[in-house]
Amino acid sequence: MIQIKDLHKSFGDLHVLRGIDLQVETGKVVVVIGPSGSGKTTFLRCLNVLERPTQGEITIGDIHLNFNEKLNNKHIIQLRSRTGMVFQSYNLFPHLTALQNVMEGPVTVKRKAKQEAQKKAKILLDKVGLGDKEDYYPFQLSGGQQQRVGIARALALEPEVMLFDEPTSALDPEVVGEVLKVMRDLANEGMTMVVVTHEMRFAKEVADEVIFMDNGKIIEQGPPEQIFGSPKEERTRQFLQLIG
Ligand code: ADP
Repeated sequence: MIQIKDLHKSFGDLHVLRGIDLQVETGKVVVVIGPSGSGKTTFLRCLNVLERPTQGEITIGDIHLNFNEKLNNKHIIQLRSRTGMVFQSYNLFPHLTALQNVMEGPVTVKRKAKQEAQKKAKILLDKVGLGDKEDYYPFQLSGGQQQRVGIARALALEPEVMLFDEPTSALDPEVVGEVLKVMRDLANEGMTMVVVTHEMRFAKEVADEVIFMDNGKIIEQGPPEQIFGSPKEERTRQFLQLIG
């Protein structure tokens, strides 16, 4: 489903991603861990070209982008439509209700009929456990609830891959679990997911593969039992010790 070849990203002189290669099969969950500043968020943002890679190739589903050549904007838009992104801050529209937030993308981006979009949005809000909150505005919802609306909103565009960028790190501890549960349910339903997170328990329980990044490179990757149980690389060991 996802294939990344020799991906690089620089911001000016700062070479942040230094050659990332990765394959993710359909239905698999990849969790990306690593120290702050190692390039995890930049990597995720490159995957749907919120940041434009300086070099390399990305394939998602049937869309292939080669950043070593001149790119067609149409292909970038197509690639974006294959991915749903959930951010650390929920970025909901404050003047729209939960239901309207979830309908917005399908109606304005995909030109879906309102009635159809509304029906789908209600199903998605039910799925994230907020069927009874559809008329609430973001300010009337807890952080965890807002983030679940954010997930429903991303799903409304029917992505083939979901990208999560530290989706729980801005939340109060008591609501982290409800967001992780929604993510776990999605994984169990077979959604292909790439998740940047500090939630090591989630990584252990849900990831098919864990990637340890440092200094813009993948240092080590493998099933969670291997990465957490018997990491091969010294840097991985040090990081895991630090986060305890
Ligand atoms: P992580 O998610 O692992 O903490 P980031 O991908 O956020 O790491 O950042 C990696 C490096 O790239 C950091 O040094 C950060 O300051 C730099 N960086 C990220 N985004 C930008 C940007 N838009 N402009 C300049 N530097 C950036």
